[in-house]
Amino acid sequence: MARKLYHGPITDVSFDGEVCQHAGECVRGMPEVFDVHKRPWANPEAADTPELADKLRAVVGRCPSGALEIVEHA
Ligand code: SF4
Repeated sequence: MARKLYHGPITDVSFDGEVCQHAGECVRGMPEVFDVHKRPWANPEAADTPELADKLRAVVGRCPSGALEIVEHA
């Protein structure tokens, strides 16, 4: 499966479902962005302030598998 890209206003997030360990760090850390009951399940649109974008970077940084990655805007 290819890595998917989810767009946000400050930063994008990419996700590779093949390496996700389903540890749940993301959904626990930032449920307003990561919600497996929604489509798309990752919605970095919700991280629309510099503070929320920093929180998103921190939560993605705790992803133990590397499935989630921050993609900064150019
Ligand atoms: S934190 Fe990473 S490994 Fe854990 S569920 Fe989320 S994407 Fe998957």
